[in-house]
Amino acid sequence: MLRFKNLGSGSTGNASVVEAQCGLQTTRMLVDCGLGLKELERRLIQADLCLADLDALFITHEHIDHVGHTKRVASSLGIPVWMSQGTWLACNGLDWGLSESQINVARDTQPIEIGGLQVTPFTVPHDAREPLQVRFSDGSVSLGILTDLGHASAHVVQQLKGCNALMLETNHDSELLKASGYPQFLKDRISGPFGHLSNDAACELASQLNHVSLNTVLAAHLSERNNSPDIVLSCLSRALGCSEDDLLVAAPDTGSPWLNIQ
Ligand SMILES: [Zn+2]
Ligand SMILES: [Zn+2]
Repeated sequence: MLRFKNLGSGSTGNASVVEAQCGLQTTRMLVDCGLGLKELERRLIQADLCLADLDALFITHEHIDHVGHTKRVASSLGIPVWMSQGTWLACNGLDWGLSESQINVARDTQPIEIGGLQVTPFTVPHDAREPLQVRFSDGSVSLGILTDLGHASAHVVQQLKGCNALMLETNHDSELLKASGYPQFLKDRISGPFGHLSNDAACELASQLNHVSLNTVLAAHLSERNNSPDIVLSCLSRALGCSEDDLLVAAPDTGSPWLNIQ
């Protein structure tokens, strides 16, 4: 059995828990660590978990909303941390040094097995040193986690084909971003090919990944200024040909409920 819960999503801090249950063995991986230790603990308790329930940590890239509190969380839990070589180098360069013995290097499409959890990282186009996003499986169903990418490359589409659940970035509405008070360089960065996925681009990707067994779609990493859950639900439901009630949007402060993947 595979289930997941987003604990918080967006530029204020990202973290999700993915859990595989195989017989009596339960394995949990925290994906990204943009929440402080106390806040992470508080949100885990709301999810009926505690810090000691986490078995491993995966960091997708070095941006502060994803890596921010990794050092503190990893050193107090003493659990293995997975990230790309580029993310590791970037973290050290930014003095978010972690103990080298805890670090495991994750590589594009190279599977990692932790307990009953199969983890397949894949490269995404984003303005970080070597960003990875992740596909998870328990051997029967699969979940794709995909945020922080400027466009959906053919590689991304290939890696997420056949997923039963998706957590998918719907970062901004292009018109709201254009009309926003953001400086031009920031608008260009966000909307560029190595920035963040617009609603329209996310919808196009969602329709490419749609299939009869895609049962769960969680929209994530929404800009608080240049997007809204209503806009996202409306365009995603049209793209997927489903009701808005069948979709979920991850909130910055509460994330999502636990989602069982079927
Ligand atoms: Zn981010
Ligand atoms: Zn990022």
